[in-house]
Amino acid sequence: MIREFEYLKEELKEKGYKLTPQRRAILDVILDAEGRHLSVEEIYDLVKMKCPDIGLATVYRTMQMFEEVGFVYKHNFDEVRSRYEINHLNEFHQHHHLICIGCNKVIEVEEDLLEQLELDIEKKYNFEISNHDVKFFGYCENCRK
Ligand SMILES: [Zn+2]
Ligand SMILES: [Zn+2]
Ligand SMILES: [Zn+2]
Repeated sequence: MIREFEYLKEELKEKGYKLTPQRRAILDVILDAEGRHLSVEEIYDLVKMKCPDIGLATVYRTMQMFEEVGFVYKHNFDEVRSRYEINHLNEFHQHHHLICIGCNKVIEVEEDLLEQLELDIEKKYNFEISNHDVKFFGYCENCRK
């Protein structure tokens, strides 16, 4: 489940930000891109279709702001560019990502699967885990053919 648009709008207002037409267009693009992980450049290309006047710098700043207010999660899957995805409401912990080093494809792993490991770590290191960001690198089905 992803956040409802109206809910996001309210949250933004509470945090003192206005939902300008440009911010709205950017938000629409991210909501549509559910399950994908877009770079700022890719978001810019999509938003430009609706707002031809928008600049890349505006998209950068808006994504920074969305990250600050917790709408999106910023990933660094490679050294080239950061990628964004909307934060899921129903996720207790961040889902994992499989990154293909052959074709750069990113596959999402829905299940946490780390519960036992988390318990072991918490016990052994007396540490309370609030989240994790796990990336697995390897080769996808296509690249292994
Ligand atoms: Zn977990
Ligand atoms: Zn691949
Ligand atoms: Zn993801």
